[in-house]
Amino acid sequence: MSSVYDVIIIGGGAAGLSAALYSCRAMLKTLVIEQLGCGGQILVTDSIENYPGFPEGIKGPDLAKLFEDHASKYGTKIVYEQITGVTLDSEIKTVNTNSNSYEGKTIIVASGGQHKKLGVPGEEEFSGKGVSYCAVCDGNFFRGQDVVVIGGGDAAIDEGLYLTGIVNSVTVIHRRDTLRASEILQQRAFENKKMNFKWNHVVDRFTGNGVMNAVKLKDLNSGNIYDYSTSAAFIYVGFESNSTYLKDKVSLDQTNHVLVDLNMATNVPGVYACGDIRTESKRQLGTAVGDGITAALAAYQYISEKK
Ligand code: NAP
Repeated sequence: MSSVYDVIIIGGGAAGLSAALYSCRAMLKTLVIEQLGCGGQILVTDSIENYPGFPEGIKGPDLAKLFEDHASKYGTKIVYEQITGVTLDSEIKTVNTNSNSYEGKTIIVASGGQHKKLGVPGEEEFSGKGVSYCAVCDGNFFRGQDVVVIGGGDAAIDEGLYLTGIVNSVTVIHRRDTLRASEILQQRAFENKKMNFKWNHVVDRFTGNGVMNAVKLKDLNSGNIYDYSTSAAFIYVGFESNSTYLKDKVSLDQTNHVLVDLNMATNVPGVYACGDIRTESKRQLGTAVGDGITAALAAYQYISEKK
């Protein structure tokens, strides 16, 4: 049997494992290369309440295990290795890891990304205990309460507006006195009575006792540092994709997300990208699953046409 895989999937998150499930069920020889543990973002999410089919919610690690088991059931091989480089410019593509070299007819890139951290004291300690990077996932835990959003870009304002439908008030903490967000989002935010703004402020640290209950704010004009009580802080200071190894190999957008068409195809024949790493992703579990399935179906068609 050839050692060449039909499909090599880089990343074992929701997008990668969904691609693997469809790829294996299409009888394609499939390898998933995952860096740490299968599940991606859901592995670090306590409770998932917005994935269809689980009205009572499901623990992130439990769902990650189900995704992994489902893909494995149909023959997905999963290895836990670190990607060191890829060669994509020939018919058979190569993926190098810290311990192996793999060949594949097609590659599905699903290595995701992460929300940028603020890097201030208390952020790590209170992550999941009042500090969040996902309003859609965690907003409901703070129904009727007062929360803050940190950042002034599209994500901060978009998610802040989403939160106003759930919480009592949203205070946007921004380091300048004008927003980076698009005009239409700014207009909606300024018209929304539940949205307040603290301009020229940065977070010095998060404080609390078991759970976060205040942010220590620094007023950049006066230099004053003071406590500001809040039930939750949603951090949106940018998102970074795990695409360093793809630079100069596939086309990326200005924020280093992989450019794809509606089939999740990149500019390189036989190479696909799905989930959080692809351009214009909605960054939701459900959309990642759909992306992965789309990419696998496209890879299947590509291989079929080569036969
Ligand atoms: P972004 O556009 O890079 O904005 C990040 C925001 O965080 C900026 O306001 C920035 O301040 C602030 N910031 C960065 N580092 C900070 C720090 N250390 N301390 C305090 N504030 C800090 O990131 P994003 O909002 O995640 O958007 C990323 C991309 O996704 C963009 O291309 C965006 O258009 C897109 N997106 C679009 C939508 C939508 O269209 N609805 C929604 C989400 C994301 P400064 O302004 O001072 O630099």
